[in-house]
Amino acid sequence: MTEPASAGRLFSAPVGATDTQVWADFQALCDLGGRVAGSASEAAALAFAQSRLAAVPGTKFRADPVQYPGWRCRTAQLTSATTGITLSCMPLLGTAPAAGLVAEVLDLGLGRREDFERHANRIRDRIVLVRHEYPFISGHVHRRLKLTLAQEMGAVGFLIAYPEAGVGAVSGSSGRNGGAGIPALGVGAEAAEAFRALPDGTLPAARMVIETDDYPARTRMLVADLPGQGPHWVVVSAHIDGHPHGESAMDNATGVAVALSLARMLAPHVSECPRGLRICLFSAEEWALAGSRIWLEQMDEAARRSMVININLDSVGGAHGLTALTSGFERLDAWVKATAARAGLPITTHLPLMANSDHANFAAHSIPAVRLIAGFNVPESNLRLVLTAADTRNKVRPGELDEALRIATALTWQALTAADATLSSLAAQRG
Ligand SMILES: [Zn+2]
Repeated sequence: MTEPASAGRLFSAPVGATDTQVWADFQALCDLGGRVAGSASEAAALAFAQSRLAAVPGTKFRADPVQYPGWRCRTAQLTSATTGITLSCMPLLGTAPAAGLVAEVLDLGLGRREDFERHANRIRDRIVLVRHEYPFISGHVHRRLKLTLAQEMGAVGFLIAYPEAGVGAVSGSSGRNGGAGIPALGVGAEAAEAFRALPDGTLPAARMVIETDDYPARTRMLVADLPGQGPHWVVVSAHIDGHPHGESAMDNATGVAVALSLARMLAPHVSECPRGLRICLFSAEEWALAGSRIWLEQMDEAARRSMVININLDSVGGAHGLTALTSGFERLDAWVKATAARAGLPITTHLPLMANSDHANFAAHSIPAVRLIAGFNVPESNLRLVLTAADTRNKVRPGELDEALRIATALTWQALTAADATLSSLAAQRG
């Protein structure tokens, strides 16, 4: 690092401290349910987090309104048109409706691009069935890419199956955002089994009924500023919204609880730092990252430029060991490794951009952005249950939140106190 050796000594680092309330806040968020944007559960979680942030001494709190393409689902039913059996399903967030659509189901296995291409002439006018993949691994193919391929190649419906029996249907966003689309449901492994082709190649048929409303929705982004000495901000973010089933515990009660603790721990120290600390609790993240994207778009360039780094906490419990996704910023990747090593904290990094949480919207505006995540490249970890009804508090251990808090605090503190030249160098991007 090019930073002068003396830089860190000007400040007494509060790193290594713990916050006893992190576990209580995590439980309180889980108590409020899945927190899907637009629900009473989300509203209660926003009110809870707002009261917690406002109680941090020295914060300037505001709630920025954001309008996003809202959607609600009145009915979602999936039946086998062959056997008449009803199968459990979850409408993908924002999915297009279906008025008793009946079509044959074509199983494309994982549903990667080569699977679609191999069966290109069989897709039109059928419902395609693909598998959900562990999302936190290099090389995984995202649900929305599979859905886009299905739509482009003429499928009339889309089913995505969770691969493990006994867990139930998988959720996720359709990414439609009020635009064109095909009906899309998450299902369990048992439904995928029910739509297996017969030995003679005959395809089973499915019936989909999905009744939905698109509407202009409003939510708010909670912003708590702790000013420093200068005009620039270190942004620590976490998304508060989740999915309708389960407790959205790992994803992302963990990140919100850690962000609240981090704010309490650093608050007494920030006014002496060269930069201020901004805590952002976003919503409508599960809607293809709409909330933070719109929030960033609707501010002027100078306001965006005042935010010099984003440290995004998303799914930071559920496994031991954290990875920093460093969004293609090479100097940021090296800085994260060096900072964690200096603090004696273990962390791995992954440099390629993964557009799987709010940090990607900061990166799109060339703001150095990192996502901390547990269980990266560990597909057998509890993180495999994210997006299912099994994302509940019992998948997280208190020590995992403490570990995430220590690492997030160390990185944030270094970002608050580093030399200007060091911070500005982090924006260097790969290629
Ligand atoms: Zn998340």
